[in-house]
Amino acid sequence: MSADSHCHLNDPAFKDDRDEVIARARGAGVCLMLNVGYDLATTRVAIDLARANPDMFASVGVHPHNAKDVDGEVIEKMRFAAAAPEVVAIGETGLDYYRDRSPREAQQKAFRAHLALAREVCKPVVIHCRNAMEDCLEILRDEGVEQTGAVMHCFAGTPDDARACLAMNMYISFAGNITYPKAAGLRESLSVVPGHRLLVETDSPYLAPRKKRGKRNEPSLISHVIGQAATTRGVTYEDMERISVSNFKTLFKVGDPGAGEVAYMIRNSLYLNVTRSCDNECYFCARFHSDTVQGHNLRIERDPTTEEMIEAVGDPTRYDEVVFCGYGEPTLRLDRVKEVARAVKAMGGHTRLNTNGHGSVIAGRDITPELVGLVDEVSVSLNAPDADTYNAICNPKSPGAYEGLIEFIKATRRRGLKVTATAVAIEGKVDIEACRRLAENELGVYFRVRDYNLVG
Ligand code: SF4
Repeated sequence: MSADSHCHLNDPAFKDDRDEVIARARGAGVCLMLNVGYDLATTRVAIDLARANPDMFASVGVHPHNAKDVDGEVIEKMRFAAAAPEVVAIGETGLDYYRDRSPREAQQKAFRAHLALAREVCKPVVIHCRNAMEDCLEILRDEGVEQTGAVMHCFAGTPDDARACLAMNMYISFAGNITYPKAAGLRESLSVVPGHRLLVETDSPYLAPRKKRGKRNEPSLISHVIGQAATTRGVTYEDMERISVSNFKTLFKVGDPGAGEVAYMIRNSLYLNVTRSCDNECYFCARFHSDTVQGHNLRIERDPTTEEMIEAVGDPTRYDEVVFCGYGEPTLRLDRVKEVARAVKAMGGHTRLNTNGHGSVIAGRDITPELVGLVDEVSVSLNAPDADTYNAICNPKSPGAYEGLIEFIKATRRRGLKVTATAVAIEGKVDIEACRRLAENELGVYFRVRDYNLVG
């Protein structure tokens, strides 16, 4: 199942066969659609569609092309429309300096009016930005867009533009143009967006994907966008589908997020959500920003029992590996990890421990002999080439944490486990090459750089 975060089934292009188009979307597994208004007339149709179809929602707005028509009366009508329960967003609004169909001053004024309305009704904003990124970002900052949340629809910017949007807690939505051969830059931007901030859309009837280019677009063709996004990001099609639905629900506050997951699959690895507790407080930790990882809800009410984890794994040979991970430090529950690992190994599975390397410090003894035979691989978050940097960015609660993790890496290697040290690339804060030298030359283990803000 997938979600189309931006379509216009409210457009006259669908007036003759809208029901067939909707049926095709459902047949293709599209379970959530946002019909976006671009003037008062299409806003009304979007609301009518949402009232008639439980899988559709509406957004209220006037496109920047029509900004010259936005006056107090239009805003008042939008305010009235925005109160409907089917309306989950305000927009599309923004700036379009490519076509300049309305004077730029009028566009900016209408954009600010939409943002003010969004604050008033506490709904996120759907933003259109074309050849106007600098002004757009300035207005978004100025108007405090973090208060309402927002999505930059049909993203067309650089990776740095994407990072600027992410810094304001915005979502970024990619459309069919990511499938175009010349869109390498756009695909690069797609790859820097974390899974919990990513949406996909068709923008139908516009922007058909490469294989349908020039034809009318429709929500059933979201599969092309999802397929390309999955390839670019190195995840499966199913991973991208799940991400599209989860983020749609979170941003537009619709549907049930579901219960927190004990075990969750990404690519063909099964991750176990061992605990939400950790003895670090890394300032970049994803759990401070989101409950979801690659579309999985990790908000568990309590730590799972051994039996619950073993049951959640089932037959471990169905997966490439079973990873002890989650939104916390698994070695805080070392005995549980060992019990589950023993069961997984007995059934012929492959195991990996993702850890901050504090296990021996936490337990007050060298735990590495206890891992032999139970854990095949260990991935340790090294994160810094020295204790001072580590303490500054990871805020460890356990005394001697950094020295302990270095000793843990050495000991796991001595005991014959496959060890990979990792570091999160944070510009200006961590010398990644120094981390690499430490890992590869001094500790003799593999080294992997993890992108900031990208988890799973
Ligand atoms: S060690 Fe991992 S789980 Fe713990 S705070 Fe750091 S990033 Fe988060």
